[in-house]
Amino acid sequence: MGKKYRKCKTQVKIGAHPYEVRTRSRVRNSDGIPNAGHIDAQRNRIDIDYHQTGSQLEEAVIHEITHGISFDRALGLTEEQVQTLSAGWLAVLKDNPHLFQVTILEALKEKHNEHRKS
Ligand SMILES: [Zn+2]
Repeated sequence: MGKKYRKCKTQVKIGAHPYEVRTRSRVRNSDGIPNAGHIDAQRNRIDIDYHQTGSQLEEAVIHEITHGISFDRALGLTEEQVQTLSAGWLAVLKDNPHLFQVTILEALKEKHNEHRKS
């Protein structure tokens, strides 16, 4: 499973900052300890270890993005809070795959109806 994501590269925007998201064979945190993922807020870069199953990989990505939001909004979340929030978000997104699509569609329909009324 992991090999599929070898040397992938994409971008995610967190607040005003576009982050480069890369998969790597080995990822270390700022203390040099091997980790599933790492975010470098100075370089706007997220590294993800590709030796992970699909759901581990997803969790690692959401986890690092949550760190990014915490940096961007100066929340100062602890590692434990980041873990809890990212696991919670991942579950909600998995359980409601159409959450945002539906919301956007409904919003558009409402706008459309407002225009027709006036
Ligand atoms: Zn973390």
